[in-house]
Order: sequence, then C-alpha cells, then structure tokens
Amino acid sequence: MIYLDNSATTKIDPRVIKKMLPYLKEEYGNPTSKHYTLAQNAESAVEVARSNLSTLLNCENDEIIFTSGASESNNFILKGIADYYQDQGNHIITSSVEHKSILKCCNYLEKKGYKITYLPVNKKGQIEIDTLKKAITDQTILISLLWGNNELGSLNPVKKLATVAKENDILFHTDATQILGKIDINAQDIPFDFLSCSAHKIHGPKGVGAAFIKTDDIGLRHELTPLIHGGNQEDGLRAGTLSVHNIVGLGEAARIAFNEMSDYIPKIKRLENLFKEKIKNKISNLYFNGDQTSKIPGIINMTIPIQGVNNKLIITNLEEELAISDGSACSITEPSHVLKAIGLNRNEITSTFRISLSKFNTPEEIEQAIDLLIKTINEFKI
Ligand SMILES: *Cc1c(COP(=O)(O)O)cnc(C)c1O
Repeated sequence: MIYLDNSATTKIDPRVIKKMLPYLKEEYGNPTSKHYTLAQNAESAVEVARSNLSTLLNCENDEIIFTSGASESNNFILKGIADYYQDQGNHIITSSVEHKSILKCCNYLEKKGYKITYLPVNKKGQIEIDTLKKAITDQTILISLLWGNNELGSLNPVKKLATVAKENDILFHTDATQILGKIDINAQDIPFDFLSCSAHKIHGPKGVGAAFIKTDDIGLRHELTPLIHGGNQEDGLRAGTLSVHNIVGLGEAARIAFNEMSDYIPKIKRLENLFKEKIKNKISNLYFNGDQTSKIPGIINMTIPIQGVNNKLIITNLEEELAISDGSACSITEPSHVLKAIGLNRNEITSTFRISLSKFNTPEEIEQAIDLLIKTINEFKI
C-alpha cells in the first residue's frame, strides 16, 4: 500500500509514539493536580510540549492553548471572537476555499445574525489583497483566512493579508494546519493574532491540536469567549483534563519538524517534481491546478482530461494498493467547493486528483504510484 494522502492525515512518526507511551502507562498523573510527583511529571511534560510548539511558531509559551485539533481551534477562535466582540461589530471576513470547520462555523454564525463575507479567489485559489481591502467595513471584527490550501496546496500571501487587517485595526486569524512543519511560521514577523494547527498532519497523533492567541508587548492576551467552560486548564480558555499523551505527541512532532524541516522539505520537493515530470510525460494533456511556485511542498492537484475518467471510481478501485484523494477528506459526497471556486466545471472536477506526499515516501513509490494510477484509469474509463 502506497500512501499518498498526507493532506488527509499522516503516518505517526515512531519517535512520537515512543515519547507518548510512558504517558499512556506509568505516567498517568493529572497535570493540574500538582502536589505530588506523578502530577508534576505530567505537568512538566505538557510544558515541554508547549515549548516545542512555540519554538516551531517562534512565539511565547503562554500564547499556545492546547485543543482537540484544528477543527476545535477554528471553532474556538471564530465563535469566541464573534461572541466577545459582538458589541463592536457583527461582520466577519473569510474565503470561499476554507476548510469545512471554518465554513460551517461561519454558516452557524450567519444564522445567529452575523454577516459573513466569503471572499472569492483567483484561478490559483488565492485571495487577492484588493479583494480583501474592498470587503472591510466599519463592522468587521475578524478576518480569518487559510494560510495554505489543503486541496490545491496554494499559499495565500498571509503576511500582506494580515498587514491589511492590522492597518484597519481588525483581528486576523489563519488556519495554518497544512503548512505547519512545511513553511516557516514566524509569529514575530507575520502579524497574525490567532492561528490554528493540528498534530496529525505533521506525523503526530489524532485528536490534539493548538490555538495560538497573541499576547501584546506588555503580555496582555487577546480576549475571547471559551468554547468549553469548566475547570481552569489552559488559563480558563479551554476546560477539560489535558490529554497529556496526545499533547506530548504533538510536542514531539513539532520538535522533529523544527529540527528536520531543512532536510525533508527539499526531499519532498524532489519527489513532487519527480511525480509531476513522470506523469506529464505519460499524459501530456494533464494539467496541474493551483499555484505551482507559491505552494505547500508535496501537494499536487491535477486534472486528467481523458474522456470518461471518474476520480471516485478510480480511487475506489485503487484502494488496496494506492491511497490518493479526489480533494478534501471532509466532503465525501459533494463535489469539491475549492475546485468550484477556482472555476472548474463538473466534468473537470470529476477528473481531478489530489496527491499529497510526506517525508516517508520514496522515489520508487512515486514510480509505482504513477503506473498503478495509469493502469487503473485505462481499466476503468467509462
Ligand atoms: C485537517 C485540517 C483541519 C482539521 O484538523 P483536525 O485536527 O482534523 O480537526 C482544519 N484545517 C485544515 C486546513 C486542515 O487541513
């Protein structure tokens, strides 16, 4: 089985499992109990993880709030800001190509009376600066824009977009789940106020992620209403006993990403180029969607304009040997909202595939995957 669906999830790094295991066995303390060794061990493990993640983001430790994943972080930030700042305005700006956890959250807020602008994107799936500028009103309380697109791989000009937000005194959130460990995130350099990320997209465990909430020069945190009320964990911003083993896993995955990015990113880029060259040689009218330069390394979105190609049918028939995707893992039934937003028609969407690579893939797998895909396309053309 060749796994080329790393935008959906990634294989856990064996070193991450090794770090997690003691916290599933003997180190079962509750980090907020504090007064005995078992609890203190758990607490210090959580703090090591926090500092590993803050190193990767180049931020302060107390700017990290652990959550159950990027979906929760996105919900926490959007609903939390909408609620906390409701007296200052009722308008939120996002885009038409966000992850479902942003889009559905915005649909919900619309029903609660908020006004949402879903910015259109260019042909490569990116938000243009002027489009954002024109959408801002005196009611805008938050701008939430994806950093790197999970279907296309295209990067948004986040530094410029966040700067526009700052110039207008509006809070800025970015969903950085797909770019964590792949593109340099520098909280000191890029003026985002909030960020969401997840462990399982960077070879960590599922069910854990984080929300970054900026503190200002004098250490004051941006305020927002918690999504989960209860105990005083995470400074009262996210109640519930910390999932210590998962947090330890996130921390270790972040540590590995920080230390090894400079090795594995060039490797993933080489694999990506190999894949693109080989498949283009075999199917000459094939084309790649999204920005081919300003992109997340390893995400390939391609349309195969051969009569009768049906991506779902082909992916289903590859199931035992090759894992690839027709777009996002989250929308099994509807055609991709991202491909629609960049102007592909139904036919084109049905013949589009997403390949997403990781540090664990090899050149041999790339060759085999292309052969398998072409063989299956020829067999199952309708
Ligand atoms: C995977 C993903 C999410 C959801 O993350 P979970 O941790 O699975 O909730 C959110 N946004 C983007 C861009 C993603 O790729």
